[in-house]
Formats: sequence, structure tokens, C-alpha cells
Amino acid sequence: MRLSRYILPTLKEDPSDAVVSSHRLMIRAGLIRKESAGMYAYLPLGFRVLRKIIDIVRDEMDRAGAHEFLMPELTNADLWKESGRWFSYGPEMFRIKDRNGMEYSLGPTHEEAFTGLVRGLISSYRDLPVTVYQINTKFRDEMRPRYGVIRSKEFIMKDAYSFDMDEKGLDESYQAMRKAYRKIFERCGLETIPVEADTGAMGGSDSEEFMVASEVGEEVLLLCGSCGYRANQEKAEFGRKPFAGPAPAEKLSEVDTPDVKTIDDLVKFFGTTPDRFLKSIIYLADGKPAMAVVTGDREINENKLKRSLGCSSLELAPDSVVEEVTGAPVGFAGPVPGPSIPVVFDLSVKEVRNGYTGANKKDVHYSGVNPGRDFEIAKEADIASAVEMDPCPRCGKPMNVRKGIEVGHIFKLGYKYSRPMNVTVLDENGASVTPIMGCYGIGINRTVAAIVEQNGDGRGIVWPKSVAPFSVHLVGISKTAEESAAVDRIYGMMSDAGIDVLYDDRNASPGFKFADADLIGIPVRVTVGKGYFQDGDIEIKLRKEKDPVKVREEALIGKLRELV
Ligand SMILES: [Zn+2]
Repeated sequence: MRLSRYILPTLKEDPSDAVVSSHRLMIRAGLIRKESAGMYAYLPLGFRVLRKIIDIVRDEMDRAGAHEFLMPELTNADLWKESGRWFSYGPEMFRIKDRNGMEYSLGPTHEEAFTGLVRGLISSYRDLPVTVYQINTKFRDEMRPRYGVIRSKEFIMKDAYSFDMDEKGLDESYQAMRKAYRKIFERCGLETIPVEADTGAMGGSDSEEFMVASEVGEEVLLLCGSCGYRANQEKAEFGRKPFAGPAPAEKLSEVDTPDVKTIDDLVKFFGTTPDRFLKSIIYLADGKPAMAVVTGDREINENKLKRSLGCSSLELAPDSVVEEVTGAPVGFAGPVPGPSIPVVFDLSVKEVRNGYTGANKKDVHYSGVNPGRDFEIAKEADIASAVEMDPCPRCGKPMNVRKGIEVGHIFKLGYKYSRPMNVTVLDENGASVTPIMGCYGIGINRTVAAIVEQNGDGRGIVWPKSVAPFSVHLVGISKTAEESAAVDRIYGMMSDAGIDVLYDDRNASPGFKFADADLIGIPVRVTVGKGYFQDGDIEIKLRKEKDPVKVREEALIGKLRELV
């Protein structure tokens, strides 16, 4: 490909709206252009990378025995009504109507569509196990699209769904996908961290996310360097401080606390530490009020709380609801005596002695609060978020926090879709059996961005060979027509040898061409210039290395074959 005829609008300056390095580099290297918020067009160079990743994903899915489909991106509302998600999905789903008033969703995910299709394709245990997949566009109405293609409204996803006769079969399908995912990311030159992930309130036993460690990642990971425990903060457990022994129980007393509401203010006011406060927050769980109580040094983990309440939607209760259930303005809720709504206590609450909490009265707190004596812990659960240096739940050593970008997710769904959508097959004895499902996703665009985040330097991208847009970048530096013709001849020689080469034949300075070559990051750069015209030496430089090597023309193709 001749660069003089190619569309490669590289930029010297960082785009003003790009805050993360992958976004900056993908725009500057001419891979993508913004269409509007959360929507990006892939230019020819970027589309080449995307296609290479898709090819790797497809290859490994096929090797794992999965079958490729192409589903409509419009999905009928009736399917979503069967699973119930038409009503519970929330504002992230794009919903549209056709001219006849029929309702559709622009597919944010395809569990319903695939379950609906597969139930008509399978009828017997002989048809199982089966894993189906597609590589297709997904749509999500993100509240805050950001970080370029990392969080966008429209993206390409590989989504797969497995159907098995029983849990043992599901585990085999799940492990096959797990293995395929490791290979896919390894082949893409991407280091991933598999972490345990939240399975949600609707059941499902195993769930694992493939994370790429990155400062700009939106996921928080808890990692134990000693035993290898790795989990998303949404689900990560942690060791609790044991009860240090009975302290002299103070008397429960009301204390006037006018305008002292936040934990920081209260810590100062009482001259104590945050872990002695019982922070009590009112939520609406599936629309009904519920209270969560954690110690003041902890944040409530809404994923864990959701699971312990068994609800599908959870939001902070509006002030009016707080006032109604506690009889006091926001800031004075507490479990003594608790409002008559469901209350979940975090595991650390029972360790508190002589603590403090809101008295469910305006401008009043209690001191000398003791669990068991002053209130009963009827429902206890792990509802607090693990943080840096918390003890590992398995080995007790301190854990570290890292941020990550989620590029893949594998998940045992159980019967969440197959039961309500009435998928059945006949077993060996002619009895009707509901298959058990798993689902497996990879964000293709995110994978591109994660590779760029992980493989860049101050000058630009450093593509791993397997996903580079071209294998070789040929830079010609010629002053005369004869010299240009000589470089053209070498370009022809490389093309004839089947080498995927981008040829910078533009009429520009060597410095300009080298800067572009570093920016777009093709792994091997070949320079034909003064050294060739004077001494017959061609320069080969790897993008990830500093110094070039020299080869003679007759050895060039052999050397390039070795390198690519
Ligand atoms: Zn550990």
C-alpha cells in the first residue's frame, strides 16, 4: 500500500477531548474519528487492526467448537418480555418503534434473541451441548460515554451462549471458553488478569472477568500477591478485624448534634475514629425502602447489598422517603430503634463497642451504642467494599488495589433465560429437560484500546505483530527520480514476496516520515535512503528497539520473513 494514496490523517497534536492515552493515540495515528459523543468511525488503518482481532477471536471460538451466527441487531420486544428484561433493563437500552407501532430494542446484548432462536433448533439431548456465537454490533445508551472506544454507545462484541443438559456439562463448556479466552488475549499480545466477578442477584455460580491493568480502568480489582486471590471490588471479600474483647459498656445516651451530619464532622465532634460509627443508609430495593448499616470507615457495596436483598434494582432513597421511614431529616438515621423496614448489617457491625449512630431524631445522635444490647442484628451480610491493604479472605495477607479495563467476561447463567423462555429438550428417557446456559463476551473495540494502552510509548503505538495494521513500514528517502524508482523496485520486491507492507512514498522530510512511522507503530521499519544509494545498505529497525541493523538487498526478504 502506497501511503501517498492512502487515507492516513495523522495529527501532531493531542485532540483536546482525549484524556486517556489510547484515545489520544488512536485519533492521532489516524485509526478512528469521532462521529459524535460515544460514536466512532474506523478509518482504514484502524479497521485493519479491528479485523485482525476479529480473525483471532473467530479462529479460537471455532477451535473451541462454537458455531458462528449473524443475528439481527433489532430485537423484538416480545422476546424481552418473555425474560422480563423489557421492563427491568433500564435506560441503557435503546427502544424504538416501527411504522406499525411494533416495539424493538437495538440489541444491547443477545441472551433473549439467541435463546429464542436456539429453542427452535434443538429438541433432543443429542443436540446438546451446543455453543453459539456472533461478532456483531451492540448498542447501549451510556449515560457518560467516554475514553474513546472504551465506553461508547455502539461497539462490536463477540457474544457466545452455551446450552448444556446439566451443570457438569455447563462446567465443561465454561472451561472450554475460559481456555479460548486465555488464548485469544495471549495471541492479541495482551496481558490480562482473570478476576472473580459479581454474578448478580439472579443467581449464577461462576463468573470471571478478563481485565487489563490500566490507570484509566473503570473497574477496581483486589489482588492478593501471596495466594493469588483476584476479584472485582463488586464482589471481593476481605478478612474482618476480630472482636478485641469486651469493653466496659457505656450507657446509651442521646447527644445533641446540631448540624453535625457527615462522618467527618461526627468524628471531630465526638473525638473518636470512623470505625465506631454505624453509618445507616436508606435505599429503595425494587421500589421498597430498606436500610443498610456499615461502620463509618467503610463504603457500602451496592452490588453486595443487592445480592443480599435479592432485588433487581437498587437506588438511594429520596429525602422524602428517608424522612418518612426514620421520622428525621437525612443524616440522622440509625438502628436504635431501627425503622420498621428490612435492615442489613455488615459483618463488621457486631464488633463495634460503645459506638455512635443517628437517633432517628433531628440533630440527635446516640453514644454508647452496643449491638445486641441496644439493637438486634437480625440480618447480617458482607455489604462493605474491600479496599487497599484489607486482609485477603483466603490467606489473610494484605491485598492491593489496581484499576482495570474489562475486555472479556464469562458467566454461568444457569436457568435465568432457558426457564422463563421455555427451552426444553427430551433426555434419553424421553423426559423433558430445561438446558442450562452460560454466556461469554469480548469487547472487540475495547480490546483494541487496551492493546494501545498497554503497548505505547511517548512517540506512539507499538503494535504486537499479531494485530499490527501492516507487518512492515517501508520508508523511502530519495532525492532524485532514479532513487525513487529504486525504492519503488524494492517495494515491488517486498509485495511480490507476500509481505504486507505500507510504503511511505510521500514527498516529505525523513524526520516527518519517521515520526509518523513511530506514531502508527508498525513493528518493523525498513529504510531505503542514503546508506543504500551510497553503500547498498538497507536499514531495518524494530519499533520496540532503539537501534537499526543493516542488511544487503539480497538478504532483505529472508530477514523480513524471519521478523514477521
Ligand atoms: Zn491471599
